[in-house]
Amino acid sequence: MTIFTRASRIADLEISEIVQLTEKAAALKAAGRDVVALSTGEPDFPTPDHIIEAAHRAALAGKTRYPATLGTPELRRAIADGNGVAPANVIVSTGAKQVLANAMLASLNEGDEVIMPAPFWTSYSDIVLMAGGRPVVIRCGQEAGFKLSPSQLEAAITPRTRWLMLNSPSNPSGAIYSAAEIRALAGVLARHPQVWILSDEIYDHLSYIPFTPFRQAAPELAERLLVVNGVSKAYSMTGWRIGWGIGPADLIQAMGAVQGQVTSGACSISQAAALAALTGDQALLDTRLQAMRARRDRVVAALNAIPGIRCPEPEGAFYVFPDITGAMKTGGFASDADLCAWLLEDAGVAIVPGRAFGLPGHARLSFAYGDADLDQGLSRIASAIRARMTITA
Ligand code: PMP
Repeated sequence: MTIFTRASRIADLEISEIVQLTEKAAALKAAGRDVVALSTGEPDFPTPDHIIEAAHRAALAGKTRYPATLGTPELRRAIADGNGVAPANVIVSTGAKQVLANAMLASLNEGDEVIMPAPFWTSYSDIVLMAGGRPVVIRCGQEAGFKLSPSQLEAAITPRTRWLMLNSPSNPSGAIYSAAEIRALAGVLARHPQVWILSDEIYDHLSYIPFTPFRQAAPELAERLLVVNGVSKAYSMTGWRIGWGIGPADLIQAMGAVQGQVTSGACSISQAAALAALTGDQALLDTRLQAMRARRDRVVAALNAIPGIRCPEPEGAFYVFPDITGAMKTGGFASDADLCAWLLEDAGVAIVPGRAFGLPGHARLSFAYGDADLDQGLSRIASAIRARMTITA
């Protein structure tokens, strides 16, 4: 019998813990269990009708052939215009995730280092590993607002550092770097020209405080800056798989060379839909932001009323990332993952342990769900934890 051996590059690669948990929740549901999943980063709102109609029109008009590798001229132009750059600075990919993968595959040599403040979105470290790089994880705890300080950055940079990966607003913490904080980091980066910056701004429209794009705060670093964005979160288009990167033309070309051999241009119909999203009515962004803000407030208040949970107010995105160490201790759980596994089994609520984001002792709840799910999920968490405490006390 032949035994399959993985390439050493992906020897330790696992299916993302978020996906595993969500699939487990779905399996429990299919088996007849009543499960509330608060585990995925996907708005519950539907894709707006005018976007779906644009896709329909594009398909009927014959936009069904291979699109240009870097994206359709119309969509690249719209993204470029919206960001004050040229189309040559734009690549459209199959989701922001592919932009990240393209960038790492196009730039990393074996052992090159990528600095990522923890907590970070789970895929960052796996994508870096897959591309042969080495994630350099820096703990940025709740006491630091989950943000990287200039001195931490300075201490982490070596001659092998190739990228700093920033994500503001952050998944999972919701933290937003202010213009002054970006400038302070830029001051350090100015002294290390080998370090490029990947600024993942996919939650920019979901900001409850003013948001400053990296390029605007530190224009002097534009020649080594890759901005990542997309339509998934802002326009409820996760399934359409359109994201983009904005950066220096030679980096964009290299990313295009990678993409051209993996997927070719992103889905032509989805690109027409994304164009309609960017050029159509933007009022819905604000309506949805206000809805998310109201959800955020009720989730933060509900979590802070549970003993052993300390939940700071996120400044952006649609996640809360509370400290659950108190609940772990009184409940007798050795890890955040144990507590989350117990919540799923016993209380029927799926949330993601902080260790998946490089910061144990926390858990991530998504509030991109309807009020009924949120209320149900939160009250289950509250009663399960209270009951457990009574037993163990
Ligand atoms: N970056 C961050 C921080 C995310 O949370 C996500 C989605 N969870 C992505 C990128 C990828 O988005 P997509 O591939 O759907 O465009």
